[in-house]
Amino acid sequence: MAYDPNNVFAKILRGEIPCNKVYEDEHALAFHDINPQTPTHILVVPKGAYVNWTDFSETASDAEIAGFVRAIATVAKQAGVAEDGYRVLSNAGVNANQEVAHLHAHIFAGRKLGRMVP
Ligand code: 5GP
Repeated sequence: MAYDPNNVFAKILRGEIPCNKVYEDEHALAFHDINPQTPTHILVVPKGAYVNWTDFSETASDAEIAGFVRAIATVAKQAGVAEDGYRVLSNAGVNANQEVAHLHAHIFAGRKLGRMVP
């Protein structure tokens, strides 16, 4: 799937639409989800133009991949949810209902979460 530079997270990364930013570094940006499903619901996105895990793993540098993973853990810690626990989830593709075609990880936290079921 070709990357669409007009997806909403690309626009957020370019500063064309606002976001409620919680973290940013060289490789990743994190901001609150516009439609939170849990008391804490943060999205972490790599800064590069990647649709999903396939192109990310095949074309991103090791530094970008490490940076993205590290950013997820850093954001959870900074949000104060690392101790009580949180869930990291990433929808990839049609069957997973990926709405925004820019790779991202959801961090869900702030209450006891249900068991993961498909
Ligand atoms: P997906 O289904 O692709 O994994 O999740 C996309 C997420 O992006 C959804 O939870 C949705 O609420 C969130 N989202 C969509 N548009 C915007 C936006 O403009 N700003 C923010 N902060 N979140 C958005």
